[in-house]
Order: sequence, then structure tokens, then C-alpha cells
Amino acid sequence: MNKTSAILAILFFAIFLFPFSHSAETADILILHTSDIHSHIFGTDHGWLRVASEIRRLRSMHGGRDKTLLIDCGDTLTGTIVAETSGGTAPAAMLNLLDYDVWILGNHDFELGTGRLEKIIPSIHADTFSANTAWRTDMVKKWKVYEKGGAKIAIIGMTSPFLDHWLWGSIVYDLHTQPLMGSLDLVIPEVMESKPDMIILALHHGRFPPARLGSVNLSAITKKYPQIDLVLGGHVHQENPGEKSGSSSWFFLAGIHGRTLGKIEAKIDLANKRVLAIKSAIIPISDETPQDHDCLRAMQKWENQAVEFKSKLVSRQPEPISGKKLCSLFAMALCHASGAEAAFISPPSQNAILPPATTEFDLYQIQPFNDKVCILTLNEDQIAEIAAEQKAQTLRRQHFHRNSPETASPRKINVAFSSYALAGAGGRFPTLKKIAMDPDSNPRETNILIRDALRSFLKRVNHVRGGAETLEDCPAPTPN
Ligand SMILES: [Zn+2]
Repeated sequence: MNKTSAILAILFFAIFLFPFSHSAETADILILHTSDIHSHIFGTDHGWLRVASEIRRLRSMHGGRDKTLLIDCGDTLTGTIVAETSGGTAPAAMLNLLDYDVWILGNHDFELGTGRLEKIIPSIHADTFSANTAWRTDMVKKWKVYEKGGAKIAIIGMTSPFLDHWLWGSIVYDLHTQPLMGSLDLVIPEVMESKPDMIILALHHGRFPPARLGSVNLSAITKKYPQIDLVLGGHVHQENPGEKSGSSSWFFLAGIHGRTLGKIEAKIDLANKRVLAIKSAIIPISDETPQDHDCLRAMQKWENQAVEFKSKLVSRQPEPISGKKLCSLFAMALCHASGAEAAFISPPSQNAILPPATTEFDLYQIQPFNDKVCILTLNEDQIAEIAAEQKAQTLRRQHFHRNSPETASPRKINVAFSSYALAGAGGRFPTLKKIAMDPDSNPRETNILIRDALRSFLKRVNHVRGGAETLEDCPAPTPN
């Protein structure tokens, strides 16, 4: 299928919100949308380099930047080794190379840490938005009006209101994330005062959040605020080529990992300050979509650095580590890193394996997320309560591992967790989340990434192995 027919095949219907008068002065605006790229810059049949050539092609066909808005809805700066080894610099550079207008902060972007984000955001030419956090309002916008093709287009940008269900510890206290509706109540009057021709709400958030996280959905928002013409989503990793939301708003969500590009065309009646029609389509990216040369050239040094890093040897072991042994490795690594006597760990996938010569690439494959090692001090009843909640879970169940024998005494022990688990793992572990918020559990975070804990532990096993053949032979950590 050639590119043109691919576009036409999935061209979606237009909504005509108002009768169109030929005498009205109108503006035709192109809005290009990406989301959840997760730093997938390179790829044989997808990736940002291929999306880039499509962005440039469509933008120049439509009269350039003056008539086009380019918006990314977040989860951009982490997710691949290129992102990791460049500290988020490579994906931030992609935003600049393509002259994005708008960038929305996603939950995974915060995994870089607010300190790192504070360094990266000023280097991004696009405006960074997060209207529903109180974090760094000097560098993060709530809304802004863009002039495109003679039209005033107001953008309101927000991140997911549920950041504290994925992120845990001091980072969340810094962010002060607010619900979408409450934040809009504050922002919409200011936006209306600017008399925009079109309002776009760009979100790192899906149309309907899972029930376990809360009841507010976007339909309620667009019903309350019908002046929002277009909602661009993110986060849920579910493409949506466009559908009506509320009484007169349009919802759209492009695909992930640079597999598609979102294309939205809006016809705006400038005299009456209203949107006459919105037409949206998801443009597929394939191996036939060329990589953009300028971006490729700029990214090559980051790719070379990543390739070199990937092949670095972490450890050698006599046999591949998988299954139960890999679970033990995770647990013991968390214990070693934190000095805890026990750990709840999220087991790696069933086919996850560390080969006898484990490289940085293998390590990243089994722990791609930047979750940190955290500690609670718990009694046996609390451990049992957490274990019971885990047992009831079908997905993302945590496994418990302890180095010391169980005691009947009331002595509390230190137990290690991932920051993601203590945040409740996206609403899955409410009991654990509650225990983790109780000061009696003495909750504390280390600055150690789980991946770094695994690396140090593997190197230690290597070092002390001598005649030892199994992980279990490795000396247990000394509790602190
Ligand atoms: Zn995502």
C-alpha cells in the first residue's frame, strides 16, 4: 500500500459543528500530534526519525510552521538505552530539531527526577506544559495562545492527575498534582479572556481512566466545557482516530513508539471565533517511511554511544539466570542495595533471561523502568497483609523474599520495595500504598535505581563467587 492510499484508507469523517458560510473569513490549520514515543527514535519500521520525515512533509505541504501546530503529549524522554545514556538529551534534541510548539510532561518523564528535568526543560524550545501541577511554574506553562494562519489557538496542557499512583516519595510532594477538572476551573476563565478562535486541551491522559484510579473521565470535562474544541490524549497507549466527546468537542489520540503520526485539520471561522470542522486521521509509519536525514545525523552520536554501552559486560555466570533464580536475584539485589532483610519484588516476565555473559543490554531488557529502591519497616502482620493483597492480584503481583527466618517476636524488619509498588502500582495495591504512607512504617527512599542495584549485585556475585555456583551461595547482606 503506498503512502497516499494508506492515509486515505484511514481518513476519518469530519464533524460540522456549525453551518459553514462561504462569505466567512476562515483559517485552515494543521495540527500534528505525537504521544508516548518513549524515546523510540530508531526503528526498522517505526520510530521518531521516520515520523520526523512525515512531519516535515505534511508541514511544508500545509504552508510551514506558520499554519501548523506540532504537539507531543509526553512520555518522551525515557524508555530506550539512547534516552538513558544521553540522560534524556537525545529525545529533547528531537523536540528541538523538529521545532515542536508544545510538549506535555508525561509520568515517565518524571522518572528522570525533577533535578534532571529542571536542567532539560530550559533546553527545549517548545513550551512545556503541566497546568495541573504546582511544580516550577517559572518553566512550566498552564496555557498559551499561539497565532497560526491568522487564528488564535489556545493550548491548555496537563499531565496525568494520577502521578502519585506511579511515582513515590519526595518527587511527588514536589509536584502537587491536581485533578483535571479543578485545574480547568481555574484556567478556563483566563483562556476565555484571551478570546481565542480555537481551544485545544492537550493531555498526558486517556479518555477513560481505569476505575481503580478514579471516576473523572474526559466526557464529563468536555460536557462542562464545550468551548474546548479538541482534546489530544496520551498515556493509555490506545490509538483513537477521532470521536466526539461531550456536546461539541473532538477527542484524538495518536499511536505510541513512533508507529503513527496524528494529523488533524481544523477549519476556523475567524469572524465568529468558532471551529467549523475538524477532520482527523492516524498516519501509519512503516519501513517505507524514510528516516529524516537531519535528525539521523544529529542522533548518530547518541546512537553510537548507546550501541557501545549496550555491549558492555556486566557479569559472567556459569549458567543463564531465569525464572525463580532471576526472582531471587532481584530480591537479593534490593536487599543488598538497601540493607533490608527482605524484599517484595515485581517478578520479571516469564521468558526474561540473563545469559552467562550479561551485558548492559540484557540488564536494561529486564529492568527498563527507572524505579528506585525504597524501604518500609514492617511487623509480621503488615507483611502478611501486603502478601495477601499481592496474592489476590492476577497482574503485576509482587513476590516476597526474605533472608532472615520468620520470627514470632514483635520485632519489625526492613523490607525493600520498588518505588512503583509503594505508589500502589497504578491503583493495584491500595493496602500497600496505605501502609507506605503511614509514618509508623518509617517509609524512606534510596536514590538507587533498581537497575543499578541489579548491576552492583551481579558484579558482587561475580567478585565473591570463588567456588560458589549459585546465587543463594552469595553471602546475605548485613541488615542496617
Ligand atoms: Zn506511555
